[in-house]
Parts: sequence; structure tokens; C-alpha cells
Amino acid sequence: MVAAADHQGNILRRARTATSAHLAEDLANINTMIGEVAGGEEILGMGAAIGGPLDWEQGIVSPLHQPAWRNVPLKAMMEAKWGCPFHVDVDTNVAAVAEYRWGGVRAGRFLYVTLSTGMGGGFLIDGKIYRGQDGAHPEVAHQSIHFRSSHPSAVQCECGAPDCLEALISGNAIRRIYGKAAEALSPAEWEEVAYNLGQGLRNMAALYAPDLISIGGGVAVGGGEKFIDSARDVMKEHLKLVPAPQVGLSRLGYDTALRGAIAMALSDGNY
Ligand SMILES: [Zn+2]
Repeated sequence: MVAAADHQGNILRRARTATSAHLAEDLANINTMIGEVAGGEEILGMGAAIGGPLDWEQGIVSPLHQPAWRNVPLKAMMEAKWGCPFHVDVDTNVAAVAEYRWGGVRAGRFLYVTLSTGMGGGFLIDGKIYRGQDGAHPEVAHQSIHFRSSHPSAVQCECGAPDCLEALISGNAIRRIYGKAAEALSPAEWEEVAYNLGQGLRNMAALYAPDLISIGGGVAVGGGEKFIDSARDVMKEHLKLVPAPQVGLSRLGYDTALRGAIAMALSDGNY
């Protein structure tokens, strides 16, 4: 997805194309869409969201789920082609920036979690992205939890570990475990997913002590308030020494990463 926005962040024009299996074709599609949405106007800056892992300072990307993209110097390529600053970050960090900038978040310590095909998170302190060793992105989805599963033998994470949170509650995990899409889950199955999410939230709250955890992505939005409420109850029941954070659904819906990329372009990468 590509969009052009004005100085206030209002989206002026947008375009989208399906991802292909070839790097050169993907890059050509992106450049074509940028040209379309620019509409002949000068481009002052660009922001981008992509799956990790990546080197955010050098802008070299290797998104795990797009095997054709390995060590792509995206920042250097885009700056050479378009002659403006280009900033790229992990999609969940960019989504967290969007919620903070456009979603009315006032929390000083803010954790954004996305629960869709896969799972990930971004942690902001006073609006700035928290980064780990050598810029590493913390992977909240790949924590081990005390889980419940009606089909424990089907729990296997795509990262290779046998017991990750993502392997229990992501869209792909739900298909693997329950043999159906999230929207087809029974109330009892939703309860099990909510229990496991709640245990993950409990760990995140215990370790980060955030003010707010906001949850977006297709599975979370599909489960709705009831799902989030159940997970919050499990978190509260098991969280003893740390104050319970607020937990709510994301406010920006499907445009979250796009709006975060706009925020990155407007702030010239200062986030
Ligand atoms: Zn994992």
C-alpha cells in the first residue's frame, strides 16, 4: 500500500498492489505506485513499514515472510531514485507510532500489539521507539507462556521454537490448532485464545509495566471487545506486583501501518 499525504497527514491519494514473489517486480510496483500517488508534485520525505528483520538505521531489509527480499538496501535505493529522505522500520513499530501520533494515545509507556496472520509488538517511551541491543527489535510474540490448548501437539512456532505465544493465538496458529479461520471459532475456542493472549499480556505487563497496551490486527478486531475483555481479565487475575495497564483495541484499524509511515515521513525519522 502506498499513500501520499499533505503536511497535516491528510491522505490525498492511495494505491495498492498485491505482493509478488519477485524482488524486481515488487520494487517496480512500489515505484509505479509512488509515481501515481505523487501526481507530479514534489516528494519531501517518505516513511515505510515492512516486516522484520531489518537494519533501521541503514534501511536494509530482509522481511521474513517475503523470501525474495534479502538484504535489500531499500533506503539507499529509494533515496537515489526519489531524491528525498526515506525512513523504514518494522511494521509493528510503525503501527505503534501511528497509534501515538494519530490514535489519541497519551500514555508515556505504550505497548502496541498486532494480532493478525502473525503477531508482533512495538514499545514506545514518550513517543520514541524502544530499541534493544544493536537496534534489535524486541519480539513479544516469541515469549513462552503458561498456556492452555485443546490440541497441544499442534503448537509449533514458525520461528522454530515449540512454545511461543504466537504459535497459540496468531491467525496462522489458529488455523493450525483449530483447523479453521479465527472468524469460525466457537465461543469456547475464543475463550482459549483469550486465555493465552491474557497470559502473554500478563508477562508483557510484568516486564515493561506499561500504562497502556493497545491491540490491533485482524484477529483482535474480529474477536472484538469481548475477546479483549476476556484477555484483560486473565492478565489482571495473574498480575500481582505490577499495576495493571489499560488494555484496549486499536483505534486506527487497517490503515495503522500506513498512517505510521506518514508520521515517520513528517517527522523526518525522528521517532
Ligand atoms: Zn516463535
